[in-house]
Amino acid sequence: MFKSIRWRIVIPYVVLILTAMGALSFYLTRVVRNSTLEDVQTNLVTSARAVREGVRPVFTTGEEAGVSPDALADRWADLLGRRVTLISAEGVVLGESHAESVLMANHLRRPEVQEALVTGSGYATRQSETLGIEMAYAALPIMDAAGEVAGYVRVAVPIGEVAAEINQLRNTILTAALLTSLVAGLLAVVIAERTAGPVRRLTAVARRMAEGDLDARLYVTSNDEVGTLTRAFNHMGEQLREKVDTLAEERGRLASVLELMADGVLITDDAGRVQLINPAAADLLETTEGDALGQSFAQVVRHHQLIEVWQRCQEAGQEQAETVEIGQRDLFLQVIITPLHDGQRSSLGDGQRSSQRDGQRSSQRDGQRSSLVILQNLTPIRRLQTVRRDFISNISHELRTPLASLKAVVETLRDVALDDPEAARRFLDRADHEVDALTQMVQELLELSRIESGKAPLRLSPTSVADIVLPAAERLQPQIERNELELIVDLPSGLPRVLVDAARVQQVVTNLVHNAIKFTPAGGRITVSAKEEEGMVVVRVRDTGVGIPATDLPRIFERFYKTDRARSSGGTGLGLAIARHLVQAHGGEIWAKSKEGKGSSFYFSLPVAEQDAETGEGAGSAGG
Ligand code: ADP
Repeated sequence: MFKSIRWRIVIPYVVLILTAMGALSFYLTRVVRNSTLEDVQTNLVTSARAVREGVRPVFTTGEEAGVSPDALADRWADLLGRRVTLISAEGVVLGESHAESVLMANHLRRPEVQEALVTGSGYATRQSETLGIEMAYAALPIMDAAGEVAGYVRVAVPIGEVAAEINQLRNTILTAALLTSLVAGLLAVVIAERTAGPVRRLTAVARRMAEGDLDARLYVTSNDEVGTLTRAFNHMGEQLREKVDTLAEERGRLASVLELMADGVLITDDAGRVQLINPAAADLLETTEGDALGQSFAQVVRHHQLIEVWQRCQEAGQEQAETVEIGQRDLFLQVIITPLHDGQRSSLGDGQRSSQRDGQRSSQRDGQRSSLVILQNLTPIRRLQTVRRDFISNISHELRTPLASLKAVVETLRDVALDDPEAARRFLDRADHEVDALTQMVQELLELSRIESGKAPLRLSPTSVADIVLPAAERLQPQIERNELELIVDLPSGLPRVLVDAARVQQVVTNLVHNAIKFTPAGGRITVSAKEEEGMVVVRVRDTGVGIPATDLPRIFERFYKTDRARSSGGTGLGLAIARHLVQAHGGEIWAKSKEGKGSSFYFSLPVAEQDAETGEGAGSAGG
C-alpha cells in the first residue's frame, strides 16, 4: 500500500513537517531556556546587590544590627523569595535562609564565590551540596572601607522552578507543532488524493482497454498535466479503436475471401502443424476445420504424394507445384506449396508468431518453415477433357460403321451391280438406309448440342400428363403392334398439370417407349404410368424386356453409350442423353432401375404447374 502515489506524497510530506516542527520546537525551547536563565542570572545578581547593600554594615562596621546574620538572611529571603547566604571573607557561612548555617561547610571554594572574588561578580548553576537540588547562584563580594573583601552575599534559586517553566513552554510549542503537523498531514492526504485519483481512474480505464473494452474513455476534468495525459490517453484509445477496426475489417475480408474461395487454402506453421484451413480445403481433404487445426500436415492430408510435395518445399525452401491424383476419391488436384516469410505468415492469420523477428532464419534452424498450400480441384476440367475425348472417339466410331457400309455399297454398285438393276435397287436401298441413320445421328447430335448450349428455349405451359403421354403412345402404336407387344397407359385421375414444353416432353416419352419396344421381345408388355410426389409428377415407363446389366446401368444416360446387347441394334446411343438433358432443362430428374432378363423401369420427374399446386386442379381440366 505504501507503493501508491498517495503514500509517496503523504509520508515525505508528514516527515518533513514533523522534522521542521521538531527542529523549530528544539530551537525555540533553547532560545526561551537561555533567555529565561539569563533573566534568572540578572535577577539573582540584582537581588544580590540589594542584599549586599542591606547587610553591608554587618560586615564593614562589625556593629551588631540587633539581629543575627541568620535572621537577616531569612528576612531577605522572605523579601526576595530567594535563598540567601551570607559568607565571611574566610568562607564561613554566617547566615543562611534555607539551612542551619552552623552545620554548613566552608563556602570559599564554591565556584560562584571564587568567581566573585576574582571578577567581582560570580554566577553558577550546579547541584547544591547543602540542599541536594540543582540551583542557580549569584555571589557578590562585600568590600570594607580599606577596599578589602569583608565577606560575600549569595542569592540562589532552585533551577527546578525555572526548568518547569521552560518545560511548560516547550510542551506548548510541541503541542502546537503536533497540531500543525496533523493539519498539514491531512492536507497532504487531500492533495495526494487529488493527484492520485485521476491516475487511478486512468489505470482502471487502461486495464479495461487491455481487457478488450476499447470504447472505455475518461472525462477530462482539469487542464493540468493530468488533464493533458487524459486527453492523450483518450486520443490513444480512439486511434487504437480505429486501428483494431481496420484490422478486423481486413481480417474479415480475408476470412470471407478464404471462406468463399473455390480453391483450397491451408497454412502450416514452422512445426508443420495446420494453422489455417478454409472450407474448400476441408472439403477436398474430407475433414473439418475443427479436426484439422493443430494437426500435422500429414495427418490432415493423408496422401503420400501431397506429403512428398510438402516435404520437398520444406527442404528446398522454394515453391513446388504438382498435379496429384487421389485415386480412391476420383479427385484430380493441382497443388502449389509456397514457403511463407514471417510478414506474410502474420498477415495470413498466424496466431502464434515466434518471438524471433526473422522467421525464415528461425525456421531454417529447425529445418522446418511455415508454408502456404493451395489446392485447385481440376477434377471437373479433367472430366470435361475426358468427355470430349470420349465424344470424339465415339463419334468417329459411330460414323465409321455406316460410312464403311456405304463405301462397300458404292463399290459393289460400281463394280458389279450396275448391270443388274434388281441388285442395284437393293444396294441403293441399303445406301438410303445408311444415309438415313447418319442423318438421324447428325440431327440428334445437333439437337443435343442445341439443348446443351441453351439454344432451344422451352415454351412452358401447364399441361396435363395425358396430353404428353397419349400422343406419344399413339404415334408408336403401329410399332407396338408390329413387334407383338402390349402398351398400357395407366394415368390416375386427379393428377395435377405439369409446367412443361409439351412437344419436348413428348419426345422424352417417345424415346423411352421406343427403347422399351426395341429391347422387349414379342409378347412383352410396356406400361406408362404416373403419380404425384412432393410437388413433382413422376412418369414411369416400364417394360418386361431384356433389362440392363448392373454395370451398365449408371452409364446409359451418357452420350453414345450402348450396352453390348444393343451394339447390333440400330440406335445411336444418344436418345437417353437427349432425354436427360430435356428433363433437366425442365427442372426434373431422370433415372432407371432394371434387372437383367426381367425388364427395366425408366422414371422422370416434372414440376407441377404452380396454379395446380395451389388449387389442386385435376388433369381432367387440362387445356393442352
Ligand atoms: P439407343 O439409341 O442405342 O437406344 P439410348 O441412349 O436410347 O440409345 O440408350 C442407351 C442404351 O441403354 C441402349 O443402347 C441400351 O443398351 C440401353 N437401354 C435403353 N433403354 C433400354 C431398355 N428399355 N431396356 C434395355 N436396355 C435399354
